[in-house]
Amino acid sequence: MLLQNLKHPQQQVNFQQAVVQGLGKDRGLFFPPEFTALNDVEALLELDFVSRSKVIVKHVVGDEVAPEVIDDVVEQAFNFPCPLVKVDDKRYCLELFHGKTLAFKDFGARFMAQCLSRFSNGNKVTILTATSGDTGAAVADAFYGLDNVEVVILYPKGRISELQEKLFCTLGNNIHTVAVNADFDACQDMVKKGFEDTEFKQALALNSANSINISRLLAQVCYYFEAVAQYRKENTDAPVVAVPSGNFGNLTAGLIAKALGLPIKRFVAATNENDTVPRYLQSGQWQVNPTVATESNAMDVSDPSNWPRAEVLIERMGWNNGEVKGAMVSGQDARASVQQMEAKGYLSEPHAAIAAKALADTLADDEKGIFVGTAHPAKFKEVVEDIVGRDIGLPAELAAVADKQNLSLEMDADFNALKAYMLDKLG
Ligand SMILES: *Cc1c(COP(=O)(O)O)cnc(C)c1O
Repeated sequence: MLLQNLKHPQQQVNFQQAVVQGLGKDRGLFFPPEFTALNDVEALLELDFVSRSKVIVKHVVGDEVAPEVIDDVVEQAFNFPCPLVKVDDKRYCLELFHGKTLAFKDFGARFMAQCLSRFSNGNKVTILTATSGDTGAAVADAFYGLDNVEVVILYPKGRISELQEKLFCTLGNNIHTVAVNADFDACQDMVKKGFEDTEFKQALALNSANSINISRLLAQVCYYFEAVAQYRKENTDAPVVAVPSGNFGNLTAGLIAKALGLPIKRFVAATNENDTVPRYLQSGQWQVNPTVATESNAMDVSDPSNWPRAEVLIERMGWNNGEVKGAMVSGQDARASVQQMEAKGYLSEPHAAIAAKALADTLADDEKGIFVGTAHPAKFKEVVEDIVGRDIGLPAELAAVADKQNLSLEMDADFNALKAYMLDKLG
């Protein structure tokens, strides 16, 4: 598999190099110059999730990685289900939160951890990543206890839910967490500075595990095929798919699935008030406003790092005629959306509810669609209980960490402080 740095197309790497390096020169994202459509998508849709995912990953990666290695990675990474649940006559939810840390990021993080541990040839690696909530838990869980891997996770202090925090800040061992007194974009900026500092990067063999790593996107491509496979059991048409978006990795993965030949009528990129992309799709102007804190905090991203990939693909495929739409859903409408689904007997949470609302708004009379359920409602227990007015209980994964001690270090948004800490602790 050939990938190019989107900023410096002459920098070309294969899949294994892209996974190990994370980002290219000048923070450029690695992306393949083309995708070849899969041969017989209809037949592929008949397979089970794991078997089909092996075919998709082999098709995209090519013969650079031995087939039995890919089989093994897929089996280890995708060890939980992703059911498509009917919410009403027109909408289904693709529930991606049945993994260990109850959010869709388990797919990408587990897949990437499995790839990295096989591609780094036993050399020590330091994962440095920023999280707006769920990446942290997924990455920490995926890498916890793996030999030769240290993990440093930055997050905006006080801007993620207490339970979210407990899921990844209580582990210890090779997982080091830092609560930064700033917003997510500032955390992301500290991470980017780390990767620009060549000496530091080499000293710790830095690697990024957030959604800019191409392996995470590849993992996520697979569940869009599963969504359509399940949708096809009750329908014959191509669904509309709405994705609750923050950093736009999830949407990009969906677009790749479509480029590979998956029948999806169009995508709706749904955001909260951090709506840089919907405004851009409307006006053609890229204007980043300050990040605002919302109840869908994992989507509080105003300068999404995966957007350049989505944009390149949209241009390349000529999807400028409504194949990708943007929609901003306010906090108030997100709450109303949770309540409407609750009234239909389906418990949701603010992130998925934004996509559910955007989907309802876009569907024509003869259309149906899928919204992506990115997190378990219990991960946002306080907010969800406030919206639906009842106790929703805690699943076992969360109950187990609720009383554990938070081991995070607190820090200001100062890259030099982070660098000193990491060199001292891990250098
Ligand atoms: C990360 C996250 C999102 C946003 O996904 P992106 O791939 O960054 O766009 C949405 N919802 C939840 C619950 C998340 O954790």
